[in-house]
Amino acid sequence: MTVTDESHEGTVAYGPGIDPDRLAVCLSVLDELDKLDVDHPDAIAVRRATAGIYRTVKQRRRQERRAAKTAHDRAVTEATATGSADRIDDETAGVLPSSSVKGEIAGILQRPRSCYTCKTRYVEVDAFYHQLCRPAPPRTAPAATPATT
Ligand SMILES: [Zn+2]
Repeated sequence: MTVTDESHEGTVAYGPGIDPDRLAVCLSVLDELDKLDVDHPDAIAVRRATAGIYRTVKQRRRQERRAAKTAHDRAVTEATATGSADRIDDETAGVLPSSSVKGEIAGILQRPRSCYTCKTRYVEVDAFYHQLCRPAPPRTAPAATPATT
């Protein structure tokens, strides 16, 4: 048997869910609630259970968003020379830390980080130093306009 990707464009493969017969029972029980008095203990029990579902869904979504941010920021840090897990500081090995990123910015953090030296919050991570804010670009005086004579 070969594992095939069940996902198609625009759809997500969720994996196995609830047995269709059991899901039908669940939905039919929820339908019955409309016939019960709102203060009936069974109605209250179902309301408590569904409120709990909403709460845990919220918590799970929040955890997923946090985890995604953490993974993103870790990837940015990993792309820097000083934050790389493969960093080699041992100069006797003759290998200096080098960045795997071409260009000056390793990435943009989703959670701002405090600069190690000046404590400024920053999101643009330098390709070399992952704990330092990037210096502001040097201010260049506007080029003098050539005098027309
Ligand atoms: Zn700084």
